[in-house]
Amino acid sequence: MLNRADLEEREYLQLSRVAFKSRDSRGRRTEEPADPLRTCFQRDRDRILHAKAFRRLQHKTQVFTASEGDHYRTRLPHTLEVSQLARSASIALGLNADLAEAVALAHDLGHPPFGHVGERALHARMASSGGFRHNAQGLRIVDDLEQSYAGLHGLNLSLETRLCLLKHRMPPGFPRSPDLPESTTPYLEGQIVDLCDRIGYVCHDFEDALRSGLVSWDAFRDLEMPSRAIAHVLDRYPALAGEESPDRSSVLRRQIAGAMLSMLLRDLVLATDRFIEDSPSLRDPEAVRALPSVARQGDEMRHALAELLRALRTRFYRHERVLETMHARARDLEGLFDLLCEERERMPPRFFARVSEHGLERTVCDYVSGMTDRYAMDCVASWATGGA
Ligand code: MG
Repeated sequence: MLNRADLEEREYLQLSRVAFKSRDSRGRRTEEPADPLRTCFQRDRDRILHAKAFRRLQHKTQVFTASEGDHYRTRLPHTLEVSQLARSASIALGLNADLAEAVALAHDLGHPPFGHVGERALHARMASSGGFRHNAQGLRIVDDLEQSYAGLHGLNLSLETRLCLLKHRMPPGFPRSPDLPESTTPYLEGQIVDLCDRIGYVCHDFEDALRSGLVSWDAFRDLEMPSRAIAHVLDRYPALAGEESPDRSSVLRRQIAGAMLSMLLRDLVLATDRFIEDSPSLRDPEAVRALPSVARQGDEMRHALAELLRALRTRFYRHERVLETMHARARDLEGLFDLLCEERERMPPRFFARVSEHGLERTVCDYVSGMTDRYAMDCVASWATGGA
């Protein structure tokens, strides 16, 4: 049997010099006895997994509203994919995969309903009182809003997990725990999650864009990454050459997206490893934070990824039909925010009770941003018809 002390010892013997070792954690906001079996980051991961905000990811939009089809990704599968990518990359680089997993599972907790348009709508409403950003809100959830443990601040996660979630900078004036800085550079495990997030959403949004029929294969076929990926797939599975184009063949689409994921993940591991080996000043995890960024793609893949992202932005994220739906939802969210500011008693008692300490607008923002797409739509529908 391996207990926590054995696992911590194993990290010291086996992980890279730049990996954050659980034993070195600066602890939690409220001190707690260590778990007999799990390291501090394994415990963080489990707390995140059991959080209500984690379950709500199931009904939050990535690009489409969840109601448009059962096979499009919501934030839950996205989060699990990012977590798996980050674990794979971390294990290959000798980093702390448990820390990376905890950060990955929590990285999208703060997203409001309706994706980025929801985020922009709330930021505009909160402009004069600290603004709104999903990463800052994610921290607010784990530090304060999740109330599952008696006598603790939120989930009471380890400081290093929280610093990775802070990801650079909070909007000025956004409420934060007194022990957190306004901005920081994350540990390498957090930087890996950041890049895996991008790899994950670009590859699966590419797949979802084709599946939706809003973007055709012609828009992608000459780009570096999709063209390389399809060549690789057809080379390996010549029988697929007889398939219809990726617009119609779900197998071909899946294989291309999978090949792109593998290419990008391998490149991330190789380029980051090379950089660490060529930088003798990177002696420990703190030295990582002295540089702007250590995790990286190689030049070629970075450009290819940026090219694909540009195509997705113009063809898919800004597609007339996607924008139309999203703008309508943004107006719904603004309407909900305004209504709740006027009629605060519509909020559940747990939120209503927070108004005196946190202010009306911040409390309404916390409540509205925690809604799933579905719940927000239900509120709009029932309140528009005069429901209580
Ligand atoms: Mg994400």
